[in-house]
Amino acid sequence: MRGLTLARTAAIIVLTALVVAAQPAQPPPPMNSIAERYVKLVLAVGQHDADYVDAFYGPAEWKAEAERRKLPLGEIAAAADRLIADIPALSDVDRRDELTALRRDYLKRQLEALRTRVQMLQGTKLTFDEESRALYDAVAPVHPESYFAGMLQELERLLPGTAPLVDRYDAFRQQFIIPANRLSRVFDRAIAECRARTLPHVSLPANESFTVEYVTNKPWSGYNWYQGNYRSLIQVNTDLPIYIDRAIDLACHEGYPGHHVYNALLEKHLVRDRGWVEFTVYALFSPQSLIAEGTANYGIEVAFPGDERVAFERDVLFPLAGLDPSQAEAYAKVRALVDRLSYAGNEAARKYLNGESTRTQSVDWLQRYAMMPAASAEQRTRFFDTYRSYVINYNLGKDLVKQYVESRAGGQTQKRWQEFVKLLASPRLPSALR
Ligand SMILES: [Zn+2]
Repeated sequence: MRGLTLARTAAIIVLTALVVAAQPAQPPPPMNSIAERYVKLVLAVGQHDADYVDAFYGPAEWKAEAERRKLPLGEIAAAADRLIADIPALSDVDRRDELTALRRDYLKRQLEALRTRVQMLQGTKLTFDEESRALYDAVAPVHPESYFAGMLQELERLLPGTAPLVDRYDAFRQQFIIPANRLSRVFDRAIAECRARTLPHVSLPANESFTVEYVTNKPWSGYNWYQGNYRSLIQVNTDLPIYIDRAIDLACHEGYPGHHVYNALLEKHLVRDRGWVEFTVYALFSPQSLIAEGTANYGIEVAFPGDERVAFERDVLFPLAGLDPSQAEAYAKVRALVDRLSYAGNEAARKYLNGESTRTQSVDWLQRYAMMPAASAEQRTRFFDTYRSYVINYNLGKDLVKQYVESRAGGQTQKRWQEFVKLLASPRLPSALR
């Protein structure tokens, strides 16, 4: 019985295939119409997930339509599946232009990530690594406690004493807090410097600009909200003390040559020059975020190669903040070590989100291995609650971008800028960086 049914089904499939083959082939939908459907789906997901749409500067009526329709998650998922199936194969003509070829793969992968995010909103539970692979096209390495032990020992030598290491680190850092009344002066100077170092290497639209706002009660420490028309709103969270190194971090990461430049270049080269509308929307939980965060973090080294950062901090920012410049080098040395401990943050997030450790245990781990004082560690676990495996985009993203750019540019500063800017202005997937 079973055999007979299968044989009959096979015969029907063959017949159907013959009938389908006999019909004239439908021309594939043009990429711009696929891109438009993608943007509308991202906006539709945004109706269910307030953090999903990080930026949108396409037609305002598309957003209004998404708000009015409030497409159910099940319908969004089905539409995403249809759209993925509709993406035409790459033709020989397309292959001649690298960006056109990249566009196809990129849009497909962004849609697959959207599909996963919808499943998560529908209640699907993924492990940390499954989630990061599906959403960000990358998986962070697993490091045991022993991996961090050597770095902690080095830190012990730099900060001798008997109190817990994180407390010694915290006490040492007290001398590097920017006084609140000098905050905007220091940030403005840092932004001006990062911009001045970026402009000779990137041709930015003449009207690009951004505004800085100081805010409180957020799970992040800084945020760039890209508004379109080459403008960004950058928010700085002042819940916790702000240390002097944050000035360059923030100015480069959120501004030049980080998020602001990245978004402006996508708008200029892909949206305006090529009419690729999919880049008017930025879905936060997608592979694009690994590229965005990775370039924003690596951009700091590009703008300040070698010892240039510590020299600028010592000679300009320390005096502006009223801090003792003779401590700048010692602080930079300690910071470099603590930065290398950032992968301990991924381990904390992985265990916490996989349900293998509680919030208290995660706070404890972050204090011990990532050198985060209790309040920062607590803030970090709230970041895990909201953004989950997004954490890998910062450190793994930076390392992947660095490796990609430097394997092409070697140690040449000029060439490094060129490769970096090229990456900023193109739709490249994280898995293609390896
Ligand atoms: Zn960022």
